[in-house]
Amino acid sequence: MPNPLQTYQKMRDFGDTPEPQGSKKRSPKQPIFVVQKHHASHLHYDFRLEMEGVLKSWAVPKGPSYDPAVRRLAMMTEDHPYDYASFEGVIPEGNYGAGNVIIWDQGTWEFIEPGDDPVKALESGKLTFRLQGKKMFGEWALVRIKGRGRSSRGNEWLLLKHRDQFANDEVDVTTVAPRSVVSDRTVDELGDDVVWESNRSARPKKGTTVASRLRSAAKEKEKKTTGVKKRTSVKTSSRDAPPARATKPAKRAAPATRRSAPAPAAPSRSASSRKRSSRAGPPTSARSTRRRPPR
Ligand code: MN
Repeated sequence: MPNPLQTYQKMRDFGDTPEPQGSKKRSPKQPIFVVQKHHASHLHYDFRLEMEGVLKSWAVPKGPSYDPAVRRLAMMTEDHPYDYASFEGVIPEGNYGAGNVIIWDQGTWEFIEPGDDPVKALESGKLTFRLQGKKMFGEWALVRIKGRGRSSRGNEWLLLKHRDQFANDEVDVTTVAPRSVVSDRTVDELGDDVVWESNRSARPKKGTTVASRLRSAAKEKEKKTTGVKKRTSVKTSSRDAPPARATKPAKRAAPATRRSAPAPAAPSRSASSRKRSSRAGPPTSARSTRRRPPR
């Protein structure tokens, strides 16, 4: 039987990159999916579905969109080993794909159609599936397209959201939830430069972490401002919550949520709080919500 990871392994020097070589066997449980945000020469999102013991992979330059009208280009890349799904780290200079990688989302997936064999569906160029992640939910599809131009290698697909209760044309999930679901870091916070860079003249003290810096900034802010409302807005936005849930009772409910300001209704997080903070409160609140402390 041919080694499905041959291409993957040929492209890498495992003496030099921390990426996994591919030794773990697939889990017998529900198949997994992972989305890795990868800041290589070009920023992209690597979307991977476990199938046949490996991770079928697509590089999605713009990342997923919950808007069913938006189709995101997804370039099929080489199969990756199953254990690549837990890789988060820095691929050193000079290696294939050099740059930072975070686990942007992970979970399980379920094949929907066509037919009853996901491998055949993939070969046919169309695959509909249901995701159960932390940021990606509901029905999605991958559809192979005929690439434009001579340079096309037949690896162009589109990643798109099907219309269901999670579809949402207002919230950009990549903007609202940029962090790793594992480390809570952004892709550029990896490595040894985890010191908060600000455009202020005051430099953080040696050894000051992003977290401690943000904590003290938040305390300062609390001292200056009074009122629970403000604090609530900072708190709720410190979540990388899924946007789908955020606007759950569909678009029309969103303005209502907005008006009922400090209600910390459990599942309705980032989207509504974002709007709330940009609308209510002093002008500085919008900024502070973005600089949230990592958990
Ligand atoms: Mn990549």
